[in-house]
Amino acid sequence: MAGSAERMMNSEPKVVVDKVRKVYQSSRGEVVALNDTNLTINNNEFICVVGPSGCGKTTLLNILGGLDEPTSGEIRIDGKPISGPSAERGIVFQQYALFPWLTVRQNVEFGLKLKKVGKSERKEIAEKYIESVGLKDFTNSYPKELSGGMKQRVAIARAYAVNPKLLLLDEPFGALDAQTRTQLQVELLNTWEQEQKTCFFITHDVEEAVLLANRVVVMSARPGRIKTIIDIDLKHPRTQETRMSKEFNDIKNEIWNQVYEEYLGAKK
Ligand code: ADP
Ligand code: MG
Repeated sequence: MAGSAERMMNSEPKVVVDKVRKVYQSSRGEVVALNDTNLTINNNEFICVVGPSGCGKTTLLNILGGLDEPTSGEIRIDGKPISGPSAERGIVFQQYALFPWLTVRQNVEFGLKLKKVGKSERKEIAEKYIESVGLKDFTNSYPKELSGGMKQRVAIARAYAVNPKLLLLDEPFGALDAQTRTQLQVELLNTWEQEQKTCFFITHDVEEAVLLANRVVVMSARPGRIKTIIDIDLKHPRTQETRMSKEFNDIKNEIWNQVYEEYLGAKK
């Protein structure tokens, strides 16, 4: 891990969230979803974001994805302000956002087609990532023929296939049963260990955050701000053994306490 930690320190920050504020107009009046949010993400970091429901996690992800704009402040990627959605950012949502009328391979090829990658190269790339998520036998299946876990594997393969600068994941395993979730966590870790990407991963699950992240960002209850950032120095590859270790559980408890304080605050 020392090598990659050094690489991170030597490079410019990949993403800079600079004094971002987001105010929604709603029937109840103004909702301040994010207030004075600042965050720097380094190249190839795996950031997990936890915090109470409604604290602005999805809002921040949508702004990072160029799907929404901040009321004030800005986000820069490689020094350039975000100005809309782009193939440079892959997004995986909680709900399986696959095209039902396309096969697994056509779904994974979709972003490559938009990028005008030629037919044979497209097929090759798609097949590589379909194989890496263990769905080789389902290449020509349609989404309705797949389980929830398999659909999310396709969504991850699709996001990876376009080789995005930034991968944004909004509770991607939140709708899966515990066993499938554990499996997909391990698979995503393996994929990331083999081919690092800058990941911004939102979750409700503190254990998931500690297993995956090299830094966990805890957000405060609404209006969302960054409450604290915790370095996760657990070595890679992280395995089932990591999950059982005292070190892992100490960190998990520390973060859980931080989040719990915010849950209590949010209820007031
Ligand atoms: P989280 O993902 O952390 O649960 P969100 O980012 O979805 O939180 O929402 C943050 C706050 O902004 C919530 O109070 C939510 O009700 C509000 N909100 C989100 N989207 C809109 C919208 N389009 N219009 C009005 N309010 C919104
Ligand atoms: Mg959300």
